Formats: sequence, C-alpha cells, structure tokens
Amino acid sequence: MSITSYGAMRSHGAGTLRAEHVGETVTIAGWVDTRRDHGGGAFLDLRDRSGLVQVVADPDASDALEAAHRVRSEWVVLVTGTVRARPEGMRNAKLPTGDVEVSASSIEVLSAADTPPFPIEDGIEVSEELRLRHRYVDLRRPRLARNLAVRSQTVSIIRRVMESNGFIDVETPQLTRPTPEGARDFLVPSRLQPGESYALPQSPQLFKQLLMVAGIERYYQIARCFRDENLRADRQPEFTQLDLELSFGDEEDIYALMEAMFVEIWREVLGEDLPTPFPRIRFEDSMRRFGSDKPDLRFAMELADLGEVFADTEVGVFKGVLGAGGAVIALALPGGGKLTRREFDEWTEWAKRRGAKGLAWGVVEAPAEGDTPTLRSPLTKFMSDAEVAGVLATTGATVGDAVFFGAGPLRFARQLMGALRNALAEANDMIPDSRWEFVWVVEPPMFDPAADSDDPTAATAEGWVPNHHPFTAPAPEFLDDFEQRPGEATTRAYDIVLNGTELASGSVRIHDAELQRRVFRFLGISDEAAEEKFGFLLRGFNYGVPPHCGIAPGLDRLVMLLCGEDSIREVIAFPKTQTGSDLMTDAPAPYDEIALKDIGLRLAPRPAKG
Ligand code: ASP
Repeated sequence: MSITSYGAMRSHGAGTLRAEHVGETVTIAGWVDTRRDHGGGAFLDLRDRSGLVQVVADPDASDALEAAHRVRSEWVVLVTGTVRARPEGMRNAKLPTGDVEVSASSIEVLSAADTPPFPIEDGIEVSEELRLRHRYVDLRRPRLARNLAVRSQTVSIIRRVMESNGFIDVETPQLTRPTPEGARDFLVPSRLQPGESYALPQSPQLFKQLLMVAGIERYYQIARCFRDENLRADRQPEFTQLDLELSFGDEEDIYALMEAMFVEIWREVLGEDLPTPFPRIRFEDSMRRFGSDKPDLRFAMELADLGEVFADTEVGVFKGVLGAGGAVIALALPGGGKLTRREFDEWTEWAKRRGAKGLAWGVVEAPAEGDTPTLRSPLTKFMSDAEVAGVLATTGATVGDAVFFGAGPLRFARQLMGALRNALAEANDMIPDSRWEFVWVVEPPMFDPAADSDDPTAATAEGWVPNHHPFTAPAPEFLDDFEQRPGEATTRAYDIVLNGTELASGSVRIHDAELQRRVFRFLGISDEAAEEKFGFLLRGFNYGVPPHCGIAPGLDRLVMLLCGEDSIREVIAFPKTQTGSDLMTDAPAPYDEIALKDIGLRLAPRPAKG
C-alpha cells in the first residue's frame, strides 16, 4: 500500500510503523484504544484499520500531554510525533508495532466519543442485540474487520476467475416480476401503476437465462437476492450470490469452473491447496448413506438400512414399521459404549423433539464366553442371534461401540438418523476442524412432496413442488414421462456441499418452450397462467435459445466458512436478526400514512407487542 492511501491527513497507518521508521516524524490518526497515565506522562494506544501503535506524551510535551489526559476510549485523534525505539525490556513481541512508539509533539482531538457500549476487543461476551444495535462500533473489532476484508478479497478473486474464463458482469433489475425459488416474494407496490406491484428478485434466474438467449454466452453477477422466508436457520432475507450462466456447455463445464474458482480462493485466502476433482455423489446415495443431501464427509459413520436384517423380526416396533412399508435405519457410534444410561435417554428425547416416536439403542459388548460380541440393549431380548449378528455386520459396529436405531417412513427415518449422525459427531468431538470436504451432490429428484415446502403458494394440484426450480432440465430418461413418475424423476441439477453446508446450487436448464410448459402444467400452472407469469421467458425461447446451464454459490456462507465463523451474520456488515429486523436502523418500521396512500397501500394494524 502506498503512503498516500492513508489519506491527506496522515503520513502512515498506525499499524505499519516498524523499527525502520525510527527517527522519522509521522502523522497518524485513529481511535484511542486505551489510555494509561504513567510517571507524569501518558500512553495512548492508537488504532486505525492497519493496526495499533503506542503513542507517548512525555511530561515535557505539555500541549500533547494536556490533550492526552483529556481523551477517552474511542475518541478520534490526530497525532504528530517522532518514531522511537521502545526501551529494552518494554518491547511487545505480540504487537507488530511492538518495537517502537510514537513520541507525540502534538495531539489534536478530531472527535470526542461517548463511552462505547462494549469494549472493542475480540473474545468478549456481548449480547448480539447490543452488537447489532451499535454495529458501527462492533465492526471496529479486529475479527469483524478481518471478516469484511476476507469478503472483499474473495469477491475480487471470484471476479478475476470469472473474467479470465470469459464471463462478463451484467446487472439485472431489482424491481421486477416474481422469480420462483421456493420462497415468498418481497413486494414493492407501484405508485405510477396503481394496483400493481414489483417483486424483488429471489434470484436473477430468468434474466440470466434470457441473457443466454441474447447471446451473452457467459454471464456472471455478484447478485443480491431477496427471499421472504421463515428465518429459522441461519438465513437472511437479503443475501448475496455469485450468479452465473453459460451457453453451449453442460455439467462438466460448471464442475471444472467452480473447482478452479474454489482452488484459487483457498490458495489465496487460506494458503491451502484443495485437491480436485471434487468427489460426486448421487442424491439418492447421499440420502441412503448419510441421511442428508448435504453430507458432512469429514467423518465416516454411515447409516445402515436394517430392513433385511429385521425382515422377520419379533421386535414389536420394528415389525410394525416395516410392515407398514417404513424403514429401520441404524448408525454405529465408535466408542459409544461409554455413554451413560442418562445420555442415551437424552438422545432419545432429542429424537422425540424431532418428531420420532423414540430412538432405540444398544451397546456392543464382548461376550462373557463364546466368541461373538453381543448387543446389550433394552430390545435385545426380542432379537434373535441372527438379527444381532446382522446388526453388527451391517453397521460395522464392534466391541465398545453404541448402535442407534431409528424407525419410521423411509424419508423421515433417514433424515432423523442423518441429523443424529451430525449431532453425535459434534457432541463427541469427531469432526476435524481443519478439513475441507467438498462434494458435488448430483441427480436430485425433480420434485418434492408439496408438504415439505415453506411456500404456501407452492402447493399444486398434483401435490409436488420442484426440488430445485421449475427451469431445471429433467434427466434424459424422464423427458418423455416425468408426469407419470414424478416421485422417481431426477434432474440435471447439482449442488456443491462443503463440510455439510450447501454452498451452491445450479442446473442444466430447460431450453425448449414446450417442455417448459409441460413442467409448468405438471406444477399446476396452466398455459394461461404460465403466459401471464413467465410469458417473457417462453417468448424468448421462441427466438433461438442455446442450451445453457448455471449455478449460484452463496457468498455469505462461503465467506463464513473461510473465516471460521458459525453464522453468516458475522460476515455481513449490517445483518438482520432472526425476525428480519435491522436493530441499528430499526427497520422495518411503520410508514408515513401519506406516503402509503400515495402508493395505494394500507398496512394491517401492528399487533400489540406482548
Ligand atoms: N437460481 C438458482 C438459485 O438462486 C441458482 C441456479 O440455478 O443457478 O438457487
């Protein structure tokens, strides 16, 4: 960084001063981190974005000393002084500027400050509410400042990789028509066309497809997307994606491009080499082996389907569930034999909170005599020896392990045991911190039962909603008859999952207006409704459309993982809370009556705050 980049007022950044500057007169400015009075003089730690340096007002520098006595934490000051070596024994090896200090000849107060609502330090306990209310203070903390810098660096690497692969950045509108991505829309009523409304884009999906019709061939955008969802998980109503689309290519182009991009980001931001190609797993295999379409591959512990083992069982619960067409899924926890009865009961409660009737378990023990291990379990007395042997063989459990059993409808049992797999690994410290396990999850189902959807407007006559979005191409073998086998049909969609977190979704698209209409029809969108909602896309498809595909990695989650944070709120400058509020600006807020009338809107009365 050149010196001029510190601004006209300063000669150096506070954190850049080193032994080589000793003897130089410098002007620095920033926030007073701490102040200590000592032996007639005063010490200030002065902080700016580049770091922190110690400033000394000596007893003989009377004006500077007077100012140094006056200032308090977080005042903004301008300091002119001479860099000098700290006396032997007073050096601070932990601080990059720890060999030097600035002997102030003048200290000018640029701005006084109230006592900050919390100390500007990492690792302190502050309620998130207070942090978000005073986010401008929170962002002064080194960790958050670093997170924003990593975010900026990541975006710049992304842009470089995209541009060097021939993609061009094109902006798409924020005031537009609804784009279905499975959430509710945020609406913006129109003043100039009373009774009508824009929607904020859930993604630029339809525009990027039309850019392919337009011949752009390779488009990207760092795009803000808006989805009005119930914010139970770590989600934000507005978030950022790298959105991209390419023509005349297929899955392999997307895989190669994304892998090259992640390799570049990991190398530059973390200094780590990622092995490529990333493994690929079929959606169905992921559900079967890990009980999730976001498998965390940092640890093993695969699920085992015990349908065959218990085919003729006398264990009442299993018999009932299997008889009704359900599944019994098991999971071995290595070393789980040391869990106490109470811990097993707690896991059972955990499963009940997730809607399970219960959770059976057993511990593999060495036999008192004989040579095959036994399973100590409240259920064992009903299990035959062959069943016990089958459980051990299928789960791979050995002496000292615990085995958990979940039973119910297949989908439910898998998801329950998949969630248990993650929770057990977490609780037992089985997840290595420094591993990056990327995986492509491919060939997902074309549709999910509508009951699984968050969006009340999504339910269709057939009771199905798209697993990705309705613009996704069916797998070739389902092109002719996906309507007849909606529960079996798969698509040419793909997700990138990293350490159990979904980082990106995308797909090869439908590029044929008739096929697109068939998908709409199946989803309960008549030709007239399709014309009304998506006529612009279908019309575009009449004018020469190249085969195309794309993907959209979420930037917030990506940066979160790069920064080792647990929440995307830590990598967004001004995030919203779980209830969608911005505590700093107090948005959303009641709106001025006259302005509302002007746009033809009347808000429902606010519910009384309880
Ligand atoms: N539009 C999709 C999304 O936002 C991504 C894609 O299919 O490219 O999830």
